[in-house]
Amino acid sequence: MTTPACRLCGQGLAEAFEIRRAPSSVERLLLAHEVAGDRATSLSVQQCRDCGLVQLARLMPEGFYDDYEMAVTFSPRFQGYLNDLAADFLAQADLGDGRIAEIGCGDGSFLECFARRGFEVTGVEPSRRFRRAARAKGLTVHPTYVGRDAAVPAAPYDAVVSRQVLEHVPDINGFLAGMRASMAAAGHGLIEVPSLEKAVADGRFYDFFPDHVNYFSAQTLAYACRRNGMRTSSIVPTMADEYITAFVTPERAGSDQASRPGDHMDLSAVAAAIETTISALQGFLQERRDRGQRVAAWGSGGKGVSTFAAASPLEGIAYVVDADPRKQGHFMPVSHFEVHSPDRLVQDPVDCVLVTAIAHAAEIQDILRRDLGFDGTIALLGDGIDIHEKGQASAAPGDRQ
Ligand SMILES: [Zn+2]
Repeated sequence: MTTPACRLCGQGLAEAFEIRRAPSSVERLLLAHEVAGDRATSLSVQQCRDCGLVQLARLMPEGFYDDYEMAVTFSPRFQGYLNDLAADFLAQADLGDGRIAEIGCGDGSFLECFARRGFEVTGVEPSRRFRRAARAKGLTVHPTYVGRDAAVPAAPYDAVVSRQVLEHVPDINGFLAGMRASMAAAGHGLIEVPSLEKAVADGRFYDFFPDHVNYFSAQTLAYACRRNGMRTSSIVPTMADEYITAFVTPERAGSDQASRPGDHMDLSAVAAAIETTISALQGFLQERRDRGQRVAAWGSGGKGVSTFAAASPLEGIAYVVDADPRKQGHFMPVSHFEVHSPDRLVQDPVDCVLVTAIAHAAEIQDILRRDLGFDGTIALLGDGIDIHEKGQASAAPGDRQ
């Protein structure tokens, strides 16, 4: 089997692990007419033998992001996070009354944090849907991709920021070169990506999916910046360690001679977690079936979608509910469960609810016990299955999002 070259340094890749049944996208649930044509895809997660960058060799089809839809979080907690991040960035970067550009600005929530503080802001966003949302907030947004020969229109800017974009970008070097070219010589930059350290520490195989073609550790992110003419003044875990955020400044020139990270992340814990989680889930469902119990699942987010896909065909789940009305009536990729409103639990009672959205477990347990009067078993899908009978103190996992 021939393996393609590392998209950051050009050296050879080695497979770290494979997820044999993955959804083709976790960000979007299916409409009824799309279910018949939906297939699982196999995901080969590769690691560069030389620089250690973790990546998928296979890319999303061209134009994938033109109509990109992503579950946008409107929670006050998340808005607070963005606001604090903007404040931290401004505390490190003395911008005066400078101009700020965001690459991949989404619906403009982060840009607004700067606009509120009086900065002149500009966004770049390829997705039509997001552009409309950002423009509705009065923001200037350009419909372009940024690359080696494509800086942000009207560059240079005193600051260029980019959150949750680089993990989607096939041409890392082109993107970072375009970002650097968009910055003034004395400018500042911010790059935020999901944390590979967190995915590995928690054995989260469901953090690997086709939309994300790159998986950065602090080391490989710093290396990617250095190679493309940006010095990282700091890289810190953010959003309860879910993300890593780099604060960067332009250097004179990038160099592909930039020294490569020495220690590579060990992904064996992630590989092992695939089998452990699948067998814990199947074992749990089998045990409930043996007792003649019915089980419903709560949560159609990335973790639920990916875990059910990996474990499919999955027997013993009567139906799936989710509190997000935009997901109800849609179908989960690969496992093809239809997503219902939590009201279904009242109309069509079950003995046990399996919560896959454990980041919201405490909130969901409250709704189940208090609002829906559910007195059956609540099981949380974490590293294994954590079971809470009624009357038991609810020991929810940490307040993660
Ligand atoms: Zn490499």
